[in-house]
Amino acid sequence: MNRVKYYAASVLFLFGAVLMAQEEDAKPEREPGHYNQSRFKQLYEEFSTPNNYRSASGAPGPDYYQQQADYVISVELDDKNAKISGEETITYHNNSPDDLEFLWVQLDQNVRAKDSKSPLRDGNGVNIAYTAGNFAETYMTEPFDGGFNIEWVKDASGKPLSYTINQTMMRVNIPQALKSGDQLSFSIKWWYNIPDHTISRARSGYEYFPEDGNRAYVIAQFFPRMAVYSDVEGWQNHQFWGSGEFALPFGNYDVSITVPADHILDGTGELQNRDEVFSKEMMKRYKEAKKSYDKPVIIVTQEEAEAAEKGFSTEKKTWKFKATNVRDYAFATSRKFIWDMQAVNIGGKDIMAVSLYPKEGNPLWEDMSTKAVVQTLQTYSKHTFTYPYHKAISVHAKNQGMEYPMICWNYGRPNEDGTYSDRVKFGMISVIIHEVGHNFFPMIVNSDERQWGWMDEGLDTFMQYLAEQEFGKNNPSVIAPNEKYPSQRGNPADIVPYMAGDQSYISPIMSNPENVYQLGPNAYGKPATALNILRETVMGEELFDHAFKTYAQRWMFKHPTPEDFFRTMEDASAVDLDWFWRSWFYTTDYVDIGVKGVKKYYVSNKPTKQMEKYMADRNITEADLPPLVYLAEEDSEDYMPELKGKSPTETSKNLKEFMMDNMTEAERSNVKEPKYFYEITFDKPGGVPMPLIVEYTYADGTKENVTYPPEIWRKNDAEVKRVISSQKELVGIVVDPKLETADIDTTNNAWPKKEEKSDFDKFKDNIKGK
Ligand SMILES: [Zn+2]
Repeated sequence: MNRVKYYAASVLFLFGAVLMAQEEDAKPEREPGHYNQSRFKQLYEEFSTPNNYRSASGAPGPDYYQQQADYVISVELDDKNAKISGEETITYHNNSPDDLEFLWVQLDQNVRAKDSKSPLRDGNGVNIAYTAGNFAETYMTEPFDGGFNIEWVKDASGKPLSYTINQTMMRVNIPQALKSGDQLSFSIKWWYNIPDHTISRARSGYEYFPEDGNRAYVIAQFFPRMAVYSDVEGWQNHQFWGSGEFALPFGNYDVSITVPADHILDGTGELQNRDEVFSKEMMKRYKEAKKSYDKPVIIVTQEEAEAAEKGFSTEKKTWKFKATNVRDYAFATSRKFIWDMQAVNIGGKDIMAVSLYPKEGNPLWEDMSTKAVVQTLQTYSKHTFTYPYHKAISVHAKNQGMEYPMICWNYGRPNEDGTYSDRVKFGMISVIIHEVGHNFFPMIVNSDERQWGWMDEGLDTFMQYLAEQEFGKNNPSVIAPNEKYPSQRGNPADIVPYMAGDQSYISPIMSNPENVYQLGPNAYGKPATALNILRETVMGEELFDHAFKTYAQRWMFKHPTPEDFFRTMEDASAVDLDWFWRSWFYTTDYVDIGVKGVKKYYVSNKPTKQMEKYMADRNITEADLPPLVYLAEEDSEDYMPELKGKSPTETSKNLKEFMMDNMTEAERSNVKEPKYFYEITFDKPGGVPMPLIVEYTYADGTKENVTYPPEIWRKNDAEVKRVISSQKELVGIVVDPKLETADIDTTNNAWPKKEEKSDFDKFKDNIKGK
């Protein structure tokens, strides 16, 4: 056995030399810049250096800290004038090692102030079309006066504190720095005009129903909120322009909300005075709902809601909530609301799945909303952590899809006669899954949405795909058993039109959401697809799921950065993914891998022309070398017809002798003699390296699937060659046969090549001037 090894080593060495000579002779043609080894370079330049706050593993470091902001808020809704006014005391805990000379508070409603700079920042000119509401608002009416009116800011003893407002941020000037480890309480009184969110496309506001004169309110960003101070950003000082969402510290909330007495209201947190705000009948139904695990129990019926629509009570009721460890607060209120709830048990813990909707949402909402909430809590908990809050509420709001802790607003309105299309139905189920799913990312895994839209949208959209598919399996009345839920995002093929599109309108995923053209595919579709491909094709479900869960659990109730995610996914799986993050997240490259050509070879005992040249150049003969075996290419002068289809030991004396000398009879009888040899060239016109997934088909109809790791591209980014040996003739090759990689051009994926050129190829030929 040792001798066999010795010979093998020396022959390999020789072939290495031959191979190198070959490369010098014939350098493959490459487009300039295409040979790019840096695709597999580690991300040292792109990543911030790990430190004591954030470890190289991707976990929080030993000195990790986060600030805390606790709120006692009392607000009152003026339904008649659509105004909200409130007073709050913020207790800010400085857990950072730094002394803070001032505090920054966010005034997000100022994006709708009369002097907001937000409408002035775009330079796109005339739109193709406008909604009537948007046109009227832009060109025909005075700007809506929707900014915060700050009445006062006071310290704990009631003395006024000075403050400076810069657009959507307010600096509160404190007399002495807030020392590391200390806390400070201060109070703010404010009011603002609530916008009609159906016109302004705000993330919060009301919808007016002209038939009955009521409004349904979905209220958020309604109070001045502390900005995040962290080891990464210091004070988060990117203004709220409208697209980049929110960055918020965790804290405990004590919130009292006063609304007309005939309103139905729900919001973030545990209701403290259920006895005061519920009728006896509602209480009875609520107790039933807490034990109903298979279907929702109606707490307020449509009939009761329709009766309430006519009331317009002048009495008031105050709803009191407490919420622990949340990053925000939001609520919905209207006398139009129907209310249903059911229990769902996850990990031994009962959670209430809740829906609030006006009659305009029925019958769709009564049938589907709470079902979708239940599925979301189940699927997301399985992949992250058990949902830690006690409820999740889905509120029907026209054209909305917006998330807050424990509560979210969702679209999906049937026609006036109650009929609805599949588009409306699946749109509604999907948006509910998506927005309820945001409880996990970013409400609990609290990333900075203002800087990184994809960290919550991308991860949430990826999870949404998994939850949708499970919803399909668990709801045969909605999706037939042999059909799949029609997910809009997550399937690799669905991202191809975006990634193949005009590069001047595409930005890397690692971009600020304010600065990209197509935020939907950029922050939702592409990262979700990338993670789906990572799970299904690159890592496999087991490794991926463990790493993803590790990330969620490490950063649950903390503030992760992109590097914390990237590092954890590698740390918990032992898969080096720097090449993947670089291509998918830091560039706008696309995937395009194909099969370029196939050469056939047969075993020969006669030196090939290339070998003859090699020996002549070095002035050696065959006698100077160990016994060699040659592969003669079919379409070359080395080829002899008698080699075709023969066993290698028949056509190579050297091989036969080697086996006789070095192998026992038993060993020889186990040898398989391949009769066909193929050198296959795979090319990669696209920039993204991916696993090379190949299906080989043989003359007898059998198929063999081989996945070469993405590292196959590490030394040559343009093309690679593989040698296949077989006892059967190879008749077909398909690259990425199941369309797993988001390959933007599949016309080069097959050998023998298909005749018809794709539109994309024709387009490419055109721009090359061919
Ligand atoms: Zn979202």
